Amino acid sequence: MYINFGGFVPISTVDWRGRAACTVFLRGCPARCFYCHNVDLQGGEDLRDADEIIAMIRSSRTVAGAVVFSGGEPTLQGPALLHLAAAARTMGLSVGLHTNGIFPGVLEDLLDRHLVDMVALDIKTTWERYDDLLGLAAADAVKRSLAACRRAKTDGSLVSCQIVVTLFRGREDNLPSIAEAAGDLDLVLQQGVAAGFVPLTRQELEAAAAPLRRSVLIRTREDGEVGYDPEQKPFS
Ligand code: SF4
Repeated sequence: MYINFGGFVPISTVDWRGRAACTVFLRGCPARCFYCHNVDLQGGEDLRDADEIIAMIRSSRTVAGAVVFSGGEPTLQGPALLHLAAAARTMGLSVGLHTNGIFPGVLEDLLDRHLVDMVALDIKTTWERYDDLLGLAAADAVKRSLAACRRAKTDGSLVSCQIVVTLFRGREDNLPSIAEAAGDLDLVLQQGVAAGFVPLTRQELEAAAAPLRRSVLIRTREDGEVGYDPEQKPFS
């Protein structure tokens, strides 16, 4: 089996909160988010035999207890992703996935086969604005992925699920409806960085989160990832 390979990080402590993981980047993504930081991985081709990538993962086992599949969009290569995740399982590794959720069938397969322990699912904007932002019909697919994650989290087959929101100045009004869609799943607010936007500061992200009256994780390039709970920390 050949896999369109994007890259490999032997050890990472930022791709899965609290875990030491190796990260496999799979190439290719049909979305065109204006802020994409992995533009080089949206397309192109670097075909590698699956065994070569499995060997990379195996080489990290002494320092990593998990593997995270990221991209690009890893679920674009469904059979390859299932194959790699199953191989990681046989090594005794936990499996994480970063996904935009636009291929819900692949995510459902992973969940049904208990091949994934952590999903970080992007919800990029309101459902009404979704298709415009990504440049393709995606809202219904992401809703289905979200429902699959919620089911698996509820029945205990998915250990961890984070809803990841990349927030830009001037688009803070998207947040309440995204948070409503996320429900009781963990919510991560990520500082959006793109040409033409002054990034929101940590304090501004906290201000956007305060009305939600729930705990969130906030990621900025200045402070890394920090927790914020409006019930415990007075906002000033
Ligand atoms: S979904 Fe992710 S990889 Fe694809 S274009 Fe958007 S930011 Fe880039």
